[in-house]
Amino acid sequence: LFNFDQPTGETIFSGLPPLHRGQPNVHMRNGILNARQLAAAGEPDAEKAFFVADLGEVYKQHKRWIASLPEIQPYYAVKCNPDPYVIRLLASLGAGFDCASNGEINRVLSIGGGAIDPSRIIFANPCKAVSFIRAAARANVDTMTFDNADELYKVAKAHPQAKLVIRILTDDSKSLCAFGIKFGAPLAAVPSLLAKAKELNLDVIGVSFHVGSGCYDPSVYRDAIARARAVFNMAKNVGYEFTLLDVGGGFEDRLFENAASVLRSAIREHFPEEERKEKGIRLIAEPGRYYVSTAFRLAVNVIARRAPLDGAKGCAVLNKDGEAQPEVMYYVNDGVYGAFNCILFDHQTPLPQVLTLNGSPYIPSAYPDEQLASIWGPTCDSIDCVSKGLMLPRGIQVGDWLGFENMGAYTVCAASQFNGFEVSNVIYTVGGGSSEEVVVGEQVKKALVGFAERVQRIELE
Ligand code: PLP
Repeated sequence: LFNFDQPTGETIFSGLPPLHRGQPNVHMRNGILNARQLAAAGEPDAEKAFFVADLGEVYKQHKRWIASLPEIQPYYAVKCNPDPYVIRLLASLGAGFDCASNGEINRVLSIGGGAIDPSRIIFANPCKAVSFIRAAARANVDTMTFDNADELYKVAKAHPQAKLVIRILTDDSKSLCAFGIKFGAPLAAVPSLLAKAKELNLDVIGVSFHVGSGCYDPSVYRDAIARARAVFNMAKNVGYEFTLLDVGGGFEDRLFENAASVLRSAIREHFPEEERKEKGIRLIAEPGRYYVSTAFRLAVNVIARRAPLDGAKGCAVLNKDGEAQPEVMYYVNDGVYGAFNCILFDHQTPLPQVLTLNGSPYIPSAYPDEQLASIWGPTCDSIDCVSKGLMLPRGIQVGDWLGFENMGAYTVCAASQFNGFEVSNVIYTVGGGSSEEVVVGEQVKKALVGFAERVQRIELE
């Protein structure tokens, strides 16, 4: 494990918000959590829920990306998880950034400490406030998307030097979160939009699309690329020679290689290498969840419980329709107003692992004694339900820990402090200690050291 408390760690991450010190070295891989050590740390809020972020996982995803899509430069979608350590790591690995607002642009530029050139940012929100377009111009962020005529008038006024990218509508019916109802110009509208851009003397440089976040049918990328090709041809008719193809986000961890293979073959068919070379066509993408989903795990503490008094074991509770009702209700210290907002906004169904049972590390057995339970967040609202009913081992007590995998995407970024509950802290690691992970840890360290040196150089200059 790379120890972030070492002096080198200090330099690498200089200028970032402080790491959460005093916390023991916790890792949740294989469901192991040294909760007793945590309690022994004697902190007043030792039971506070927390994320464990494995930066090694982000690094591995990047290596996977480069292996499958070497010609497509990823522009990480900051909205997915604007974690400063993730941003700095990806910056050091050469990624660009997809920002949705000036807040995100400022965050990327300030976290980068001057080492992230504004040309590495795409302002990928087709409907922006005029003041935001003006601020982007001041920050030298030129590349931005549009999908409607009003946006063109706004850009002509507020940032006439902008390099525009037309966002087109594609099939997003196979995705967890569809965006087509809100964004994307239909192909029929493209010629007139491009003609209007020309009339306003604007520079349109390419096409973008988004097949929807969490895409479960990678074959849709093929159709999207074919549409993008049609738009390149339409642009030629209006007098533009496009040089940018942005294939958006939507990449699912499990289906990534599949999606990459569809993209490679569609790009080969519609944008042959010779043409790309000759015309200097660049390929970029805006992956979000792909990079961070698996890298973050969340540990929550059982802070309260409503259960039958001891001895009432096994009583099946049925409702009036004869359906089984949870026998026990667990209340944990993060909920749908916090990290579990992904249940409401991102259509997720997070499933817990039991990390401790009655204060001891939980070892799953082949014949577990389980009961139907429900899990609730800490606020006073009844919508704050993490799971309405699932089988959990009998005997979980107040003070026990539950762990949730794949909590890096669209979780902490949209968490609120409703009812006065703080957003859960993040503890950073670079892997769980296997020899491969140690190597990955070294690579992450190297990438970040290089980055820190660049930042320092820029600061000196
Ligand atoms: N690009 C844009 C414009 C988006 O709106 C989003 C998600 O909302 C993304 C990229 C990231 O998508 P994903 O996390 O599915 O890769």
